Amino acid sequence: TVRTRFAPSPTGFLHLGSLRTALFNYLWAKKCNGKFIVRLEDTDQKRKVNGSEQSIYDLLQTFGLQWDEGPITGGPFGPYEQSKRLHIYSEYISKLLASGKAYKCYDECSTQSPKTDKNPYVVRFRSEEGPITFVDTVYGKITIKRNTPKVLSDDFVLLKSDGYPTYHFANVVDDHLMGITNVIRGEEWIPSTPKHIQLYKAFHWRPPTYSHIPLLTNPDGSKLSKRQNDAHVTSLLEKGFEPMAILNFLALMGWSSRQKNDVIPLPQLLELFSIDRLTRGSCIVALEKLQFLNKHYLRERMTDPKQLEQIVAQMQKSLKEKYPNSVSRISDSEYVCRCLLLLHNRVRTLPEFVDLCGYFFEEPSQNTIQHRMPLATNVSVLLSRLLHEFQLCSWQPQVLQTMVSDVASSFGIPLGKLQSLIRQILCGSVPGANLADTIHLLGRDTTLHRLEAYNR
Ligand code: GLU
Repeated sequence: TVRTRFAPSPTGFLHLGSLRTALFNYLWAKKCNGKFIVRLEDTDQKRKVNGSEQSIYDLLQTFGLQWDEGPITGGPFGPYEQSKRLHIYSEYISKLLASGKAYKCYDECSTQSPKTDKNPYVVRFRSEEGPITFVDTVYGKITIKRNTPKVLSDDFVLLKSDGYPTYHFANVVDDHLMGITNVIRGEEWIPSTPKHIQLYKAFHWRPPTYSHIPLLTNPDGSKLSKRQNDAHVTSLLEKGFEPMAILNFLALMGWSSRQKNDVIPLPQLLELFSIDRLTRGSCIVALEKLQFLNKHYLRERMTDPKQLEQIVAQMQKSLKEKYPNSVSRISDSEYVCRCLLLLHNRVRTLPEFVDLCGYFFEEPSQNTIQHRMPLATNVSVLLSRLLHEFQLCSWQPQVLQTMVSDVASSFGIPLGKLQSLIRQILCGSVPGANLADTIHLLGRDTTLHRLEAYNR
């Protein structure tokens, strides 16, 4: 059976590229009814960042990429944290030392220092001479030539002087012991693969099938840096991107779905995914695409009453922070929900909604109002007439709509101009939904209050 793994190192925040790697491994395992394994590669004690392992697990769960075996859940091949497997690595180091494929090295430049075991030493691999060839499902046959005569730096370290294995050694031993059949990982690991291949040979083990995927890049082709904010999964979540939108977005990078539509929800991803459609094509992180997908998934989430309720509760929290003087209005969850439903077509993320809906909770500033009424119009008389009508008319969108257009024609002004004036007075200068619906939701009191304040 197919067994894939995601092998993060706890050296910082989860990067978008790593999440894509996790996703592809997850998809391939699930697609094949296999197992998806998470293994923590924490052998580099110096680079370890406190808390990052927990945040990686939490994020994988947020994205629904639940592992079958790994930290927390355990499994038949555990432990799944490399720092807890040191005894295993030392057993396999002994094997290589015994077969002469590895040797102890007491100082940096000599292979045959006659030192005792008490001195700190590293264990190095005795590298092969020849060119090393392996087949990658994405990049095809890859051959790495080697300098002859052999240079010492080719004898890479397997065990460091602190007793911890290097990435190369632990990675190969664990992939073998954990029965990993497919390794899907970023192309930055291609130069490491010949080392891994040699280790498999030395142990007489069969290597997994490799699929390296191209790096994510910025629109200008440069590498998506780990320091860039948008490269961090948490920062995208904080910006209000839905987990499913992010997954869908990542799935489109390095995998050709052969679909016309870019919207591919998880069940469909599982159906369509295949490693032989992983490609070398460009993987540009274009936020507009993510925003487009997010709009779709957000709207879809809002069609589920339970989810909608959750979103409203979340919005009430954010709104209270942003508009602290309007707590009572914000506490009315039905009102918040109606605002959301009215504006949701105009936003791509929930934080955009929070920014856009302010006039439903606070009085907009009237300083910037500019109306372009025909010169002959007496604006004050016009507004008095509107106030009068707003006081009397029945409070329904259709009625409000007709009333405003009647007023416009009786004053001989274009409807668009009147609507724009009313919108500016009621909502400030932000774009919004249909005017009649907006007035209807604002309510009679607020509408009259804002018009009066302006006409004073
Ligand atoms: N621990 C490595 C990383 O942080 C895993 C590389 C691999 O998949 O072999 O990406």
